[in-house]
Amino acid sequence: MDHVRNVERLFGDDYGILTFTGENVRRRLSPDSLRSLDQTIRYNEPLDEAIADEVAAAMKDWAVENGCTHYCHWFQPLTGATAEKHDSFLNMDGEGGVIAEFSGEMLIRSEPDASSFPTGSIRDTWEARGYTAWDPTSPAFISINGGERTLCIPTAFVSWTGESLDQKTPLLRSIDALSNQAMRILRIFGTDKGVHRVQTTLGCEQEYFLVSEEDYHLRPDLRFCGRTLIGADAPKGHQLDDHYFGSIPGPVQAYMADVEERLYYLGIPAKTRHNEVAPHQFELAPLFEGTNLACDHQMQTMSVLRKLAQQHGMVCLLHEKPFAGINGSGKHNNWSLVTDTGHNLLNPSSTGHGHLQFLVFVCAVVRGLDRHADLLRASVASAGNDHRLGANEAPPAILSIYMGAELERVLERLEAGVVSEFEHSTTLDLGTTAMPTLERHPGDRNRTSPFAFIGNRFEFRAVGSTAVPAWPNAVLNTIVAESLDYIADRLEASVQDGMSTEERSKAIVEELRKVYTEHKRVVFNGDNYSQEWHDEAERRGLPNLHGCADALPMFGTEKARKLFSDYSVMGEAELEARLMVLYDTYTQMLEIEARTLLRMGRTLVLPAAIRHQSEVAEAIAATDAAGVDPGAVRGRLSDLMTSITQLECACVDIESTLESLPEDSEKQVRHVQDVLIPTMSRARAACDAIEGIVPDDLWPMPTYMDMLF
Ligand code: ADP
Ligand code: MG
Repeated sequence: MDHVRNVERLFGDDYGILTFTGENVRRRLSPDSLRSLDQTIRYNEPLDEAIADEVAAAMKDWAVENGCTHYCHWFQPLTGATAEKHDSFLNMDGEGGVIAEFSGEMLIRSEPDASSFPTGSIRDTWEARGYTAWDPTSPAFISINGGERTLCIPTAFVSWTGESLDQKTPLLRSIDALSNQAMRILRIFGTDKGVHRVQTTLGCEQEYFLVSEEDYHLRPDLRFCGRTLIGADAPKGHQLDDHYFGSIPGPVQAYMADVEERLYYLGIPAKTRHNEVAPHQFELAPLFEGTNLACDHQMQTMSVLRKLAQQHGMVCLLHEKPFAGINGSGKHNNWSLVTDTGHNLLNPSSTGHGHLQFLVFVCAVVRGLDRHADLLRASVASAGNDHRLGANEAPPAILSIYMGAELERVLERLEAGVVSEFEHSTTLDLGTTAMPTLERHPGDRNRTSPFAFIGNRFEFRAVGSTAVPAWPNAVLNTIVAESLDYIADRLEASVQDGMSTEERSKAIVEELRKVYTEHKRVVFNGDNYSQEWHDEAERRGLPNLHGCADALPMFGTEKARKLFSDYSVMGEAELEARLMVLYDTYTQMLEIEARTLLRMGRTLVLPAAIRHQSEVAEAIAATDAAGVDPGAVRGRLSDLMTSITQLECACVDIESTLESLPEDSEKQVRHVQDVLIPTMSRARAACDAIEGIVPDDLWPMPTYMDMLF
């Protein structure tokens, strides 16, 4: 999007003032360079490096006019965050002076230290060379931090040896792979006229929690782990459903408005805001965009959410499960396929080939998910998301597709070899005269499904709130590309020139029928939370990969290696490295959690417990001495002593588990999941029991009640 129409009255005319797009570019580049850059952005054509110097100079002038002194190559290493190294525009002029300069070379390439980022052993500590490379398809932007402005240039990050070390590179490759295969389908249907490319679209619904800065600083677990490691339930959770879509608290709305304004300046079209299910939980959803841009924008959005919260005396928690026992946070990944002429390929059109073509894309998604449910599950596996998937709030770890009654009916007819049209929406009479009659969609929604068709797109709900969206989208694109490839092969063989329209349809339906029949076990329209579904999924042979130790190894299989290398999304070494990074990140995060828990148990909880223990013991002794039976108070003391002992024992066990972690990365993850986490749960249970006994004035940190109500 590079222009605004009619929104000045809403937010002012500053949309995208912090991005190098639209007028900011147009009035600074020569017509030839503009045309050339436009070709690259629009059709992914190779960049004409001859224009780089001109673009760089224009970008610098724009940035300097807007208060920047420095620029950076902005990239997404495998840390889960973004990275930037700032350089000023200052340069020697060769005549003993300095000038402000930014060359094409500086724009196109920079050289950060590759070995200081996770590389999964692709690079050793002494093998430092890596490159960042300009992504001209994602506009440069100005970040504001501490009031200071920096020009940020979105880039890909690769090792000197050529392997990708970032999130953007596999994503871009996966979009190319998908485009190539989708174009074959369009050619078969003759709908490729004027279409250069197919790309995916993405709209991420970001859920987050807000807590006060004061509370945050009093909780080491929030500071170091982004989530509470201990904390007894508050008496009230979200049983009453009174928070969801409730009236937004004033201070929160002020914060949201600031966030939206900043996003507006950054050309990120924020659309929806509301209270989420849990107390202090909220959601922000932007308008969807092309996936590469949407992913860059999502990373910026997370950063803006975090930074601006501080200015409002709050902290934004993006963790999947900041508080046990209440709703966690996800990042629903709304995904579709669109031609560069703007045709949404997942929008069921009403008649003829359009409809059949839509069914090809749906069947490719069904086949892709059935063949690679393990990989898609693994793409959202993280220490944080393990708390969410499978709990009774988020979709389960079993990946299935919800089609909705109407599409399911159409697909069932397809199995019988019949092409059936979508039924039109019906109307809903509210039974009172002044109210309008409502149009009713042909299908209901299903909130329990991890992957749901909703009218013109699929919503992948298993993605966690902290996720870097590029990765699950790269995996999703690749598995769908493979199935489009498979179907295109079949159709190219069976649909011959000179066939009548009817014969062609028949041939296509026959191929789709086979695909759907073979893979429909992955389709499920019922309640994904129910035990019956878990049993049924097992009967159908669908994988149920509970945690990271079960899911992540799926990237190490021959099937995975073949898939990613066949579509040139990732070579063997890259995939192996990525897997190592995922393993190590998981283990390191849990080590940090375990150490934080130990410290909190021993220096905060136990001292409070022991103080109370002596108070109670003294009271019992004094009561006894006065000749009165202390009665139930003895029980309080013995409960406290039991929990203290349990906590002490669990702390010792955590320590010895940390010391005895196996060497091998995969085994470490297994050990953490099977041994360390249950031990941490024991420690937590003891802490929470103690919290229920120790007086409020002795409790050394804000409780769930303090933080959430
Ligand atoms: P929900 O009812 O699922 O909570 P929201 O309005 O909160 O819906 O979010 C829907 C998201 O889906 C938005 O980010 C929206 O832009 C996105 N979306 C809509 N259409 C498409 C599409 N064709 N491709 C990708 N994302 C889309
Ligand atoms: Mg949604």
